[in-house]
Amino acid sequence: MQKTNRRAFLSKAGLLGIGALSGAALLQACGGGEAKIEENSSPAPSPMAASEEAEAVAADCARHNAKLSESDLEVRKSIGYLEQSEMADQNCQNCRFYLADKFDGDCGGCQLFVNGSVNPDAWCKSWAAK
Ligand code: SF4
Repeated sequence: MQKTNRRAFLSKAGLLGIGALSGAALLQACGGGEAKIEENSSPAPSPMAASEEAEAVAADCARHNAKLSESDLEVRKSIGYLEQSEMADQNCQNCRFYLADKFDGDCGGCQLFVNGSVNPDAWCKSWAAK
């Protein structure tokens, strides 16, 4: 076995220390060796989920409107009520006549309709900005 003198020992110890520090610095630069998980990285809602939600709202509104009279339906028809707005920036939710709290759930009411609900995504010719 080779005898190690004091100078050779200190030289090897110094190299090991530098190596250890370099490794620690490298790990730190790489995020401490742990995988980083971004917060708020929840996946975007899928188009299918949005579609299912819209269908659920429509079904809820239809339930409220199941017993509308012919005259109630005529009022809706006369102002061109559409269950789904065709205007990108106009719908019942942002209309001044919308009554968001008229019913439990997602359907609202309209000040122009005595009976029944309106879909928040619906629209009619009487739409007016809030
Ligand atoms: S007036 Fe028309 S757009 Fe406005 S809340 Fe009533 S139905 Fe919706």
